[in-house]
Amino acid sequence: KHFPVRRRLRDLFSSSEKKAVHAVDDVHLTLRRGKVVALVGESGSGKSTVARLLAQLYPRTDGDIQLHGESTRVKGGSAFRGYAARVQMIFQDPFASLNPVHTIRYHLTRALQIHGHAGRTEADLEAALTDLLGRVSLTPPERYLDKFPHELSGGQRQRVAIARALGARPEALLADEPVSMLDVSIRLGVLNLLRDLKERLNLAILYITHDIASARYFADETMVMYAGRMVEGGDSETVTQTPAHPYTRLLIASAPDPDRLTGDLDPTEEDRGNGEPPSLIDPPSGCRFHPRCPAAMPRCSTDLPVPLTIGDAPGHWAACWLYDVPEGAGK
Ligand code: SF4
Ligand code: MG
Repeated sequence: KHFPVRRRLRDLFSSSEKKAVHAVDDVHLTLRRGKVVALVGESGSGKSTVARLLAQLYPRTDGDIQLHGESTRVKGGSAFRGYAARVQMIFQDPFASLNPVHTIRYHLTRALQIHGHAGRTEADLEAALTDLLGRVSLTPPERYLDKFPHELSGGQRQRVAIARALGARPEALLADEPVSMLDVSIRLGVLNLLRDLKERLNLAILYITHDIASARYFADETMVMYAGRMVEGGDSETVTQTPAHPYTRLLIASAPDPDRLTGDLDPTEEDRGNGEPPSLIDPPSGCRFHPRCPAAMPRCSTDLPVPLTIGDAPGHWAACWLYDVPEGAGK
């Protein structure tokens, strides 16, 4: 069973001067049930924008989102509600996404009611609440239901946010840096929970992260974004073990610890080497990475690279002129 979501968009957003900014361009991605796609990039790469567009939290000026092959563009009202239920977002900061004046019971009850899953009786509702908390391993439920968000740990709050998303009975979760604000020691537990839910509920997951090591651990497929464009994609093992794009290589080289989900996962600008990501108001011409790229050639500053197939791994591609060479001519 497929869960395709395709995006294509440009001319999105405005800065304070109302100048049009291409926050993301030419983004194509497909989510499938039972699979995790990681979207990796540093802050400002546009990856959160992609998630918010997919959640239809931002308007788009161009492009399309399809659900089960059907465009969502021409629909409104109840069709949108159907989409919103099927595609749920999980935010980076669970504290900000939960209302501090309401209990966990309130948050979960609201989600169930909005999506028509609260049942008809008090007992139905209690059973649904127990089920939701059980799915995210917050048991026994009575220990959590009447607590306020500030009475829980960060990891517990994120589990509540996940339970709330599950209250809609979604087919897809859009998880925007779901563990980056949590203590290092509990990140793996939350990622494992998401992986477990993916298996049990056959969910499609878009996993947004700046941490390419966690993408390898958690995602089936990995896409790398730079300055609002996708620069490389393929299965996670291939992209992380044999990266083709110079930017992906830089990301991997600057990851503090590729084998463990520990440490400060957002490298500082100095660690990234060779400058910082460009402004999207006036992105570099040609390949947007060319001002930082150790392999840049003359054409890189003028010609926008097209996605090119890399090697033998099926589906591996990179948008880089290094690979625009005749067979056997070397790189
Ligand atoms: Fe570097 Fe050129 Fe490839 Fe861009 S297209 S990543 S500048 S080699
Ligand atoms: Mg972000």
